[in-house]
Amino acid sequence: MLKVSDLRVSYGPIEVIHGISLEVNEGECVALIGANGAGKSSTLKAICGLVPAKAGTITFEGQDITNQSGHKIVRAGITMCPEGRQVFPQMSTVQNLAMGAYARTDGEQASDLEEMMDMFPILRERASQAAGTLSGGEQEMLAIARALMARPRLCIFDEPSLGLAPKIVAEVGETIDRIKKMGKTILLVEQNSLMALRLADRAYLFEAGEIVLSGTGKELQSHPEVVKAYLGH
Ligand code: ATP
Repeated sequence: MLKVSDLRVSYGPIEVIHGISLEVNEGECVALIGANGAGKSSTLKAICGLVPAKAGTITFEGQDITNQSGHKIVRAGITMCPEGRQVFPQMSTVQNLAMGAYARTDGEQASDLEEMMDMFPILRERASQAAGTLSGGEQEMLAIARALMARPRLCIFDEPSLGLAPKIVAEVGETIDRIKKMGKTILLVEQNSLMALRLADRAYLFEAGEIVLSGTGKELQSHPEVVKAYLGH
């Protein structure tokens, strides 16, 4: 479904992604794990058209999306739920959800809004509240629901558990699992490596802008290098 081949990304003169290749197949949950600064977010941003690919190609459902504009990539069916949630703080919960569907023209947004409120009852309770006044966990649920409002075929999550209390992290994990069971295809970047590997069908380990290891979530959970460096047991 998504194929990244020999991708290179630079910020100014500094190359931070050194020719990585990865694939996400339809219906899979794929995780990118690795230390801070290893290049996971930059990879996601290049896929979403938020930073340029200096070299390499990115195809989605057979279509070349390399260096396309962000809105074209959303129209192609890819939506990112960004790091730090980035809800529109002055807008209400419902308005934020409606923003998620901005690129759609099918007229079914109202029923999807109801579906999201059923899926996340807390968002119904907070419907008219300014999003900036929601708790961190509620904002994460809103950011996830807003991403789903685009009806993406590929959902990208960048650090969904960042800065949340352990109980809320578990809720976020359960939510992603539910989305996976809905049949959505997921690409996930997560500092919480154990959670990521439990959720993922397959995963790639990033180190210093390269992919150094890949395998099933189960395989990587018991890989000595991953256990030593990222799972801490
Ligand atoms: P994190 O979990 O901290 O986001 P990451 O694995 O996602 O880490 P990236 O954020 O992709 O890593 O960062 C890869 C490298 O690119 C790092 O060395 C980082 O300092 C650098 N970098 C990221 N964004 C920028 C930017 N806007 N300008 C310059 N350098 C950047």
